[in-house]
Amino acid sequence: MSALQTELRGEIIAVSRTLDEAGLMPNKSGNVSCRSPGGFLITPSGVPYRQLEPAEIVELQAEGAPRAGGLRPSSEWRLHAAIYAERPEVSAIVHTHSPRATALSCAGLGIPAFHYMIALAGGAIRCMPYATFGTDELAANAVRGLEGRRATLLANHGVVAVGASLREAHAVAFEVENLAMQFLELRAAGLEPMVLSDVELAKVIDKFTDYGRIDRA
Ligand SMILES: [Zn+2]
Repeated sequence: MSALQTELRGEIIAVSRTLDEAGLMPNKSGNVSCRSPGGFLITPSGVPYRQLEPAEIVELQAEGAPRAGGLRPSSEWRLHAAIYAERPEVSAIVHTHSPRATALSCAGLGIPAFHYMIALAGGAIRCMPYATFGTDELAANAVRGLEGRRATLLANHGVVAVGASLREAHAVAFEVENLAMQFLELRAAGLEPMVLSDVELAKVIDKFTDYGRIDRA
């Protein structure tokens, strides 16, 4: 295993564990991947995140074929492959069933641009129609939901967050859950959010771009 491979596998495990410990990946749900030379690395199916070893991270070719033996990749590998194929600037993907964002998805609700931090996701977050897990249909829905965005909800399922690095995808996934919590609080209180205009949102997106790294925002 090359030094780069070892580093990327370690980063995937670190991100998965942080998300798991924060309660964003309940009951072994979700998956994490990043590009590697010629393909991508992804968490395996069915291994608890706290037990993950670098050798258990699965390497797939860009179109999804496994490199060699080893564990089965996450059942959502098609979703990851489809996003990497469509989005050259995306280097890492985090998929979660984080509780609050997933609750919104189960009502078919996206997240409006009611707080400036939604600029991390590139604007209001869509909720895409339901499709069976692991299917090409779900993968295509995710790609459409991510058009011009770094995050989307998938109805009755969960969240997809992407970034130019694992750190970015991780930061977006956490912020989506935070925004979902705030939006649910507003709704629970019977309040209507004041939605930010596209002009105001564009200013924040510019400022975040100036930082150079969205996870420092
Ligand atoms: Zn899932």
